[in-house]
Parts: sequence; structure tokens; C-alpha cells
Amino acid sequence: MSNQDCIFCKIAAGDIPCFKIYETEHLLSFLDIGPVNKGHALVIPKEHYKNIWDLPAELGGEIITAAQMAGDAIVKATGADGLNIIMNNNEAAGQLVFHAHLHLIPRFRDDGFKHWAQSQYDNMDEARALAQKIEKMIKG
Ligand code: 5GP
Ligand code: ZN
Repeated sequence: MSNQDCIFCKIAAGDIPCFKIYETEHLLSFLDIGPVNKGHALVIPKEHYKNIWDLPAELGGEIITAAQMAGDAIVKATGADGLNIIMNNNEAAGQLVFHAHLHLIPRFRDDGFKHWAQSQYDNMDEARALAQKIEKMIKG
């Protein structure tokens, strides 16, 4: 499956160049063109899946394994102190390219990249009710 208008499908097909760091039969990892920090890379399936829910579980496992390997190499190659692995799903979550991908972002102690702001529950009843609602959704 591939989407004609998808930039990552074109990269996976070799129609648009990228700085590749890792490749297997099913996935590709390459440098992000607009890095948060230098060495920021993406891991994508070669086939077009739009987000986490579209992705077959087995392929998701391969992507995590690739993220571990490539992430370790990025940390070593850049001398990073840590690594963020982030996935944006849907526009509201910041997804700009609708072909599933993980971000591997090397982090440095003084890089100034702030964590997102946290909020709080009104009370424990609210938190408990929401946890129970989500748990029921999972059970179906
Ligand atoms: P999203 O916001 O969808 O999670 O992230 C998409 C990412 O893809 C962005 O960080 C952006 O810099 C990167 N990107 C978009 N177009 C290209 C491209 O043509 N080549 C590469 N290497 N990265 C791209
Ligand atoms: Zn695609």
C-alpha cells in the first residue's frame, strides 16, 4: 500500500532523497529535515499506514526494535545525554505527515527543550472515574 501524495512513501520508494541511517525489508530510518537537535531521526514503515491505530502490531514491534538500535547509535554518535522517542497521532497531537513515524530526538542536559506543561485533576474521584472509563473501553 502506498499513497501517491505522501512524502514519506516517496522517501521509502527512493523517489525523494534522504539521509538514511538504517533500513530493513519493512522499515526505514533517516534524519529529520528539521531537527529539534542534530541527529533527530525518524523511523517509518515502508508501507503507508497513517497512525498508531492503523499500524499492524507485528510491524509496530519491528519499529520499536529499530528505534532501540538506531536510538542507541544516535546517542553514541552525537554524545547525547538522553533520547526522546515521540509519536504524533492526528493533527491535534501535532502530526503533520500522515504516514506513521517515530521521532528519535537526541537530548542534551542544557539543550533548553522544555517538557510540556502538566495540569491536574479536580479531585481523585474525577481521576478514578476516568481511569475506569478508559479501562472499560480497552475491555470493549
Ligand atoms: P510530525 O509532525 O508529522 O510528527 O513530523 C513530521 C516530521 O517530518 C517533521 O519533523 C519534519 O521536519 C519531517 N519532514 C517533513 N518532510 C520531510 C522530508 O521531506 N524529509 C525529511 N527527512 N523529513 C521531513
Ligand atoms: Zn505514506
